[in-house]
Formats: sequence, structure tokens, C-alpha cells
Amino acid sequence: MRAFSYDRPDSVDAALRGVANQPGTTTEAAVKFVAGGTNLLDLMKADVMRPDRLVDISRLNLDKIEEVDGGGLRLGALARNSDTAYDARVQARYPMLSKAILAGASAQLRNMATNGGNLLQRTRCYYFYDTGTPCNKREPGTGCGALTGVNRIHAILGASDHCIAVHPSDMCVALAALEAIVRVTGPKGERTIPFADFHRLPGDTPHIDSTLAADELITAIDLPAKGFAEHSTYLKVRDRASYAFALVSVAAALELDGQTIRTARLALGGVAHKPWRDPAAEAELAGKPASLENFREASRVLLRDAKGQSHNAFKIGLAERAIVRALAEAAGVEHP
Ligand code: SF4
Repeated sequence: MRAFSYDRPDSVDAALRGVANQPGTTTEAAVKFVAGGTNLLDLMKADVMRPDRLVDISRLNLDKIEEVDGGGLRLGALARNSDTAYDARVQARYPMLSKAILAGASAQLRNMATNGGNLLQRTRCYYFYDTGTPCNKREPGTGCGALTGVNRIHAILGASDHCIAVHPSDMCVALAALEAIVRVTGPKGERTIPFADFHRLPGDTPHIDSTLAADELITAIDLPAKGFAEHSTYLKVRDRASYAFALVSVAAALELDGQTIRTARLALGGVAHKPWRDPAAEAELAGKPASLENFREASRVLLRDAKGQSHNAFKIGLAERAIVRALAEAAGVEHP
């Protein structure tokens, strides 16, 4: 592990001064915020990330979960994943989110990891962590070890010739389906980022994970009033029952009028560089009966551009079945 300096500011303003004047996005920054440290410290120990300085924000007053006008909830960026998942309001009004958080990592990690950090965690691509192999995300321009290597866990949607990594978060898949808003602050003041615009596809700059600027801080994540508590679920398919990343996961949320679908939301994890949503698949369900046949058609629409690599083509059929099963669970439709 390389030497770095360390600050622990006692206010948001002081924290922002600590990262001031850095160009680019937070993934490119030499000075990084740290809170739970559950991913960043691993990456530093593996020499994958090499910040010059860490600004420890774990003592800032950003750990509350509060009601907001209009009926939503504001999740503080420094609220722990466990506290968020077990919050009675989250469990009652956003059960899909609670389930997604509890599907991730281990109890010990969830107790340390923060909501803001969950959004900024980095891919678990094997080659990203192995400094002896090429990786455009770790060292731009070196190539992609996964393209010709073992790529069983990699992307089937939205990948590029430069990177086929997937985003590892469960929580973010539910937040995408809920259309959460990310609140950030920086030298130009506060701004909000719709969840769909927060993470990026790799394109030819896979070293950049998100649109958060290097001198900005996530302060909270706003959940809209509509939580789909009646008809939603989070389904995670993985190699073992706990402490494993998703091969495919599905956040499915429906608004039903009797057995007719009024609104559908579908987000997939484990398949792309960001939580994957497709308005065409959701539109396919609107106004139709909640049936297995219609769920299958929506899954076909969603996966129409899916492309397997040498070891992960099985994910396409797996995703199709997972989407149907998640929608059936959300709708209360019997599934064989
Ligand atoms: Fe690196 Fe992305 Fe290729 Fe993995 S898939 S080796 S993260 S460039």
C-alpha cells in the first residue's frame, strides 16, 4: 500500500475545500473522500487505486433518514446500508430497496458501508483487481483482459470494445427502478442528478464510472413518494446464497389496476456497466394484463440487443427467466 495523507474535516464546507480544484470526475481524482472504506481500502491495498490523500467524511452530519415534502424519503449519504435497509419507513414504503440492500455483501460490510459509498463502489472484474493484467478501467489504453479472458460475470448489455465490466451494486438496481435522485454539493452549490444519469456506460472512457465531479460530494439520495410497496420485488441470482455478486438481478415494480398493469418499472443488475433500464420494455407492459406471456414478451424486448461473450452467453437466458419470475412475484401471479 502506498503512502497517503489523511484529513478528517468536521463540516461539509471543510470537506469540499479538501477536494477543491480537482478537474474531471471523482473516479479520476487524486484526493478521495472515504467513509465506510469497504471498497476503496481494498482497492488501495491491491494498488488498484492510488489516491494521494483521503478526506474522511465519516463524522459529517449526513447520516439521517428523513421525510421530504411530497411524501418521499431522504436517505443521508452517510447512513449505513444496514440502518437504511432496516429503517421501518424504508421497509414499509420501499420494500424492494430494503430487500436489495440486504441481498448485498455481508452483515458486517453492510454495517460499515454507507449509501453514498454504495453508489461509488467499483466493478469486481477480476482483471481490474489484478495489476499484472491489462485493464482499460484501471490503466486507460492498456487493453481489456476480460475480452479474451474469463468473462463469466461480465456484461451482456451496453458494453464496448474497451470494457465489458458490470456495476456490482444491488442497492443501485432498486434505486434505478424507483427513479431516485442523487443530491450532491460542490463549489458551485447544490445540484441533483437523476439516478439514470449518475452511472455511465463504458464507451471509450471506461475509467470513468459516474458523472460526479471530482470536487463534489454526495449528500443524500431522495426517494420519490411512489415506492411500489404493494407490487414489487428484488430478485438476485448468484453462484451461492450469500456474499456473492449478482450474475443477474432484477428490480421489478408494478402499479396494478385489478390485473391490468398501469405502470411498470424494471431494472437489471449484473448485466451492464450501470443498472440497466429500458423504457421500451416497460412500455411493452403498460395497459396489458399481468400475465406470464406478457412478462416473457417484455423480457424479450429488454434483452433484444443482449450480446454474450465467450463465457457468459448463459446470462441472456438467465436474465429472461429472472425478469419473468420477478414480474410474476411482484404481480402475485403464479409462476411454475
Ligand atoms: Fe478492465 Fe473493464 Fe476489461 Fe474488466 S472488463 S479488464 S474492468 S477494461
